[in-house]
Amino acid sequence: MNAPLLNGQVAVIGAGTMGIGIAQVAAAAGHPVRLFDIAPAAAQRAIDELARRLRQRVDGGKADANATEALLARLERADSLEQLADCTLVIEAVAENLAIKQSLFRDLEAVCSPTALFASNTSSLSITAIAGALQHPQRMAGLHFFNPAPLMKLVEIVSGLETGAETLAALQALAQRWGKQSVVCRSTPGFIVNRVARPFYAETLRALEERVADAATLDAVLRDAGGFAMGPLQLTDLIGQDVNYAVTDSVYRAFYQDPRFTPSLVQQELVAAGHLGRKSGRGFYRYDAQRPAAEMIAFAPPAQAAPPQRVTLHGDWSSLADLAELLIENAGAIKQPGQTSPYLTIDDVTLMLTNGKTASQLADERGTPVVLFDLCADYAHASAIAISCAAQNGAQHNANAIRLLQSLGKQVIQLPDYPGLLTMRTLAMLANEALDVVNKGVAGAEDTDLAMLRGVNYPRGPLAWGAALGWRHILTTLENLQRYYGEARYRPMPLLRRYASPASFPGAKR
Ligand code: NAD
Repeated sequence: MNAPLLNGQVAVIGAGTMGIGIAQVAAAAGHPVRLFDIAPAAAQRAIDELARRLRQRVDGGKADANATEALLARLERADSLEQLADCTLVIEAVAENLAIKQSLFRDLEAVCSPTALFASNTSSLSITAIAGALQHPQRMAGLHFFNPAPLMKLVEIVSGLETGAETLAALQALAQRWGKQSVVCRSTPGFIVNRVARPFYAETLRALEERVADAATLDAVLRDAGGFAMGPLQLTDLIGQDVNYAVTDSVYRAFYQDPRFTPSLVQQELVAAGHLGRKSGRGFYRYDAQRPAAEMIAFAPPAQAAPPQRVTLHGDWSSLADLAELLIENAGAIKQPGQTSPYLTIDDVTLMLTNGKTASQLADERGTPVVLFDLCADYAHASAIAISCAAQNGAQHNANAIRLLQSLGKQVIQLPDYPGLLTMRTLAMLANEALDVVNKGVAGAEDTDLAMLRGVNYPRGPLAWGAALGWRHILTTLENLQRYYGEARYRPMPLLRRYASPASFPGAKR
């Protein structure tokens, strides 16, 4: 089969949230689009509602009237599958149910031309299984848009076992013409984004369950310090606790209950109580009109401490170069270069990036007071930094560390002595998962990072971030967490071991 040009009639099936969004994207790119829904009047209702919203934008001076009317003129409803016979591409966004999708594509195969391509917007079903219903499964692939489809830049193009190379190439070219960035991946549970992103939610949900801090403070660690656009708990309130929980549960089951995807009981309780987030007025936060969500983040008050005598940077700070620069410029830190992992001392207090051990453990091992700090995507621009202090420290040791970090212009969030703090353990798990995706040929490294940057707006791709920090530190963090919890959840993936090992991967930054 030659790669079809895909510049003709597009059909979108299912006129719900995703279907109408995809239809808008296709029509905006110049395709005539037919929208079909099994529910009577649903397609027309969706088109009318889109027309109302787009014309409102024109009235508000935010969109061009001619372009908007031209887009709407290209969009029409279909009342039966037979009316889709001349389509060159059919994109399905119906209910997330394998039997329904299989039966739909079987019906379409009887109606559409043999050269028409079929795409499914499924989030969690196997493309191989959906295409299994077809006589010509090579014409079928996943085309996974993110919500809202007109705004989100990423589409995952998902290859089933039988998907043809021409089908993938045609969809890649199409995505580009539609102004989307596409990544290609093999049909596996969660594809790239919904799989690699699981630990982003899971680690903070676990910290909440372990009562490390309240929701607002945990969110602040990932957002204000870590550099993520939103904290995981506020994000799940936005997505819907039921939706986010269902995705985790589906990935967990699809991987045969692998412990690294175990869903959270805290989240399950919210779902059971109907606290679904913004849409129900209450989730981890409250959204009543009268009572705005309380943002009581537990920042440390300004520390009363004598000015530190001497701040010294020991070891190799190349993986934390932006933090070293801040310390040199703002705190007069001096360098004492060496081969060890980076750490700094304020007089007799040691400050270092968490490595999955508790501060108290490290204080025991090193024989000095220890304060651990958490990872930031960008230390220079983060407004906050999270720390934990060893139980053995005196109050003045902690105050000196807090004062130093406050002198860099940062709010300080002091967490209990939690191993791996929050952003560091989250990145370690994200990078570990991303490496498994790469190792198993689900997607390439570049596409994996791009998917996380564009699909969920991470501040850095987990693989680029892991490499910059050094794979050895990621490995050590996971090994320490695995020891601490005794759980396979934190087991390092084979590719992480290889990247962290100088002998088998000489080129990698360790
Ligand atoms: P939705 O419930 O908003 O809409 C589904 C629509 O499909 C409904 O209008 C329903 O009447 C129609 N439908 C059901 N069975 C049909 C059939 N046999 N033929 C024609 N129409 C039928 O659902 P949604 O959120 O738009 O999700 C649709 C698909 O997109 C699912 O596979 C979902 O996993 C996937 N998806 C959803 C999101 C999201 O954030 N909502 C994101 C990415 C992918």
